[in-house]
Amino acid sequence: MLEINNLRAGYGAINVLWDLSLNIEAGKLTTIIGPNGAGKTTLLRAVMGLVPVSQGTITLDGKSLGDIPTWKMTEASMAMIPEGRMVFRDMTIEENLMMGAFAPRHRAAAPGNLEKSYQMFPRLRERRKQLAGSLSGGEAQMLAMARGLMSDPKLLIIDEPSLGLAPVMVNELFDILGRLKQDKRTIVLVEQNTQRAVGVADHVYLMQSGKVVLSQPAAEVSLDHLHKLYFAR
Ligand code: ATP
Repeated sequence: MLEINNLRAGYGAINVLWDLSLNIEAGKLTTIIGPNGAGKTTLLRAVMGLVPVSQGTITLDGKSLGDIPTWKMTEASMAMIPEGRMVFRDMTIEENLMMGAFAPRHRAAAPGNLEKSYQMFPRLRERRKQLAGSLSGGEAQMLAMARGLMSDPKLLIIDEPSLGLAPVMVNELFDILGRLKQDKRTIVLVEQNTQRAVGVADHVYLMQSGKVVLSQPAAEVSLDHLHKLYFAR
């Protein structure tokens, strides 16, 4: 579904991704793991058109994403849930959710998708008139996830959702990821919690220094081997 071939990208004179290739299969949950600074967020930013690509191609269902500006990505049926939640703190929960369906083509389906979001995240319904800035970290993460689902994307990209969450919220988060997976949604999950990420994934990529150093079906991954590669320098 999402194919990345021979990608090089970075920030001005600093190149971060080196000839990187990945294939994200439709209806599967693919996790991309790797230590700090491996280039995971840079990869997601390159996919979303936020970082310039100096070499290689990124295609979604065979169509190049290179010419689509970031603000039009929801029209390509992609949504990204960024690291750090990025909720609009001075808006209510419901207003935040409606921002996820802001593009004209998503507005007609917004009431139905809002109801689906509330069914998946009942706590958001209870607090729908509350300002997002008053939510706990876990609740804000749920809001960011629900907002990402408001455009009913074919491809959902989630960057480090468990970062900074209490263990109980991490459990809840991975339960939700498991449910999204059952819906056969295509998900790219960037995570530092390797054990949980491998546990929920269909396929695992490990990145080191801007390169893919392991690509394996999750069922075949040995955590020992993975951790050795993870900490290798
Ligand atoms: P983390 O898990 O810590 O978020 P990551 O794997 O997502 O790490 P990136 O955030 O993609 O890694 O960073 C990869 C490299 O790019 C790092 O060396 C980082 O310092 C550098 N980098 C990130 N953002 C910028 C920027 N805006 N300008 C210059 N260099 C950057």
